[in-house]
Amino acid sequence: MELTGRQERILEIVKNEGPITGEQIAEHLSLTRATLRPDLAILTMVGFLGARPRVGYYYTGKTGTEVPMEQIKELKIKEYQSIPVVVGESDSVYDAISAMFLEDVGTLFVVDESSHLAGVLSRKDLLRASIGNQDLESMPVSIIMTRMPNITVCKKDDLLIEVASHLIERQIDAIPVVNEKENNRYEVVGRVTKTTMTKVLVHLIHSELPQGGKRS
Ligand code: ADP
Repeated sequence: MELTGRQERILEIVKNEGPITGEQIAEHLSLTRATLRPDLAILTMVGFLGARPRVGYYYTGKTGTEVPMEQIKELKIKEYQSIPVVVGESDSVYDAISAMFLEDVGTLFVVDESSHLAGVLSRKDLLRASIGNQDLESMPVSIIMTRMPNITVCKKDDLLIEVASHLIERQIDAIPVVNEKENNRYEVVGRVTKTTMTKVLVHLIHSELPQGGKRS
């Protein structure tokens, strides 16, 4: 964000003299308190200044180091993906429900005997199977899962913003991160969910970009 000359001067004053009241800042600049009010509001809102009743304004140490928009657009999946939870396609619906609770995830990925992506199980897929009063222990997940090739996948170098758009457009909660193998088969290496996107938002607002490596 671009600061005006006056806002820069206010920051300097608070940096040197803070905590300092709005009245005193106005005196330094030979302006009225009312004139300064919008500048102080902006500087407080963007986090450059803190304000405490009966104490005044203080410098928060933040400079203009917000993550620039260009950098946000370039964020990649690999920096934020989390660990996938997978079940086998012959596992029972009962076991899948147990795995969902034990692993504390909302979406399971299903793999075949050669560990390639075969399907996806959402919470509602499992709920739907459960309300029919069927024998969940003998029903394999392959009967109820959404199966390949109808699975939306992403790769670790895909842009986060594009994958976020897929979550919205396709109305799904999670997307597996895959490595493409021979014959259009995929190895599941990660998971991106709506929670991932919420975490990214919080990181960005705290101006914390990951320094590489995996984030949960
Ligand atoms: P819920 O069904 O619990 O609301 P979702 O919105 O994620 O959860 O899933 C909606 C449907 O889309 C489910 O039938 C699920 O199997 C399917 N689904 C979930 N994720 C994917 C994906 N990545 N690709 C294709 N289909 C998916």
